[in-house]
Amino acid sequence: MSTTGLNKKALAEGQLAVQLYSEYFGPSMFTHMQLTQQTACNFGQSWPELVWIPICYYFDTTVRHQLGMDWGDRGYWKVVTPHEVAHQWWGHTVGFSSYRDQWMSEGFSDMSASLYLTLVEKNPKKFLTFWNDERELLLEKNAQGFRAIDAGSLTTGYRANNSRTGFDITRRLIYPKGAYVLHMIRMMMHDRQKGDQLFKETMQDFVKTYTGKAATTEDFKAMVEKHMSPEMDLEGNHRMDWFFNEYVYGTQLPSYGVSSAFDVGADGDVVMSLKVTQSGVDDHFRMLVPVYVELADGNIVFLGRARISGNSSIDQKIPLKGLKVKPRRAVVNYYDDVLASSN
Ligand SMILES: [Zn+2]
Repeated sequence: MSTTGLNKKALAEGQLAVQLYSEYFGPSMFTHMQLTQQTACNFGQSWPELVWIPICYYFDTTVRHQLGMDWGDRGYWKVVTPHEVAHQWWGHTVGFSSYRDQWMSEGFSDMSASLYLTLVEKNPKKFLTFWNDERELLLEKNAQGFRAIDAGSLTTGYRANNSRTGFDITRRLIYPKGAYVLHMIRMMMHDRQKGDQLFKETMQDFVKTYTGKAATTEDFKAMVEKHMSPEMDLEGNHRMDWFFNEYVYGTQLPSYGVSSAFDVGADGDVVMSLKVTQSGVDDHFRMLVPVYVELADGNIVFLGRARISGNSSIDQKIPLKGLKVKPRRAVVNYYDDVLASSN
């Protein structure tokens, strides 16, 4: 097997990823980057300015299946190059202080790869499949019968691996859940007019502040608090404790139900009756739940974010100004904006 042609593909992906991450996160510490293949299959992070592409990247799914390596076909193989290139930022430019903070290195690299899927490959289907795969890794039981989401907090890190929970549990926890945490912050900061501007400012400030240093989970939390939007201030104290306690330090997982009906108002505009229910959480659990509508032509439009606390519902009539044709339905979490059970 010659890997030369596929090396070119990896290099091209690497170049595009560097451009994208520079735009989103600001410059890394490094002015050069080299990519080469290596014989190990399960990792690629090496030194600053050097990215290893695991040899199995060059195999197709059939060969990987024959070798018994299907585990990575959910997630890892689809984004090897963008994940490994992202470590030039997460792990090399910004270090992690201890095993408790390692979720940021692996999770942020996985989330960075999702940006690559949506913004470079411009493939919405791959983007949604990626987040489905990440959720599956968290919610399915491993051979020892544990779901990674229940095994411990993100900050348990590699200590979650042991003979009782299985030695694959941390891999199933910190990569996908760490990625979800950053994805959720991006989606909360997303603005109809300004797009990802607030998210970019946050991440660029984080990289600039911690270049060449090791960051802790609390350092990152403080950075999010410095840039958070007023809408994210669910406790009215300019803190993100609610979110970090739920998803970084805690193991909660909400479920959402949604129902909708549509009427036409006196002015001819559509009025939506919307009910969103949050369940499976404790009484203190708060969330901003993004609501979308699927229009008659199939397009998905973002409507706004519902604030829901505890196991409860919101029930509202919402005039959809200017809309004359009834949409098909309301949808929550269309872009996997909130990590929740999949039902
Ligand atoms: Zn990694």
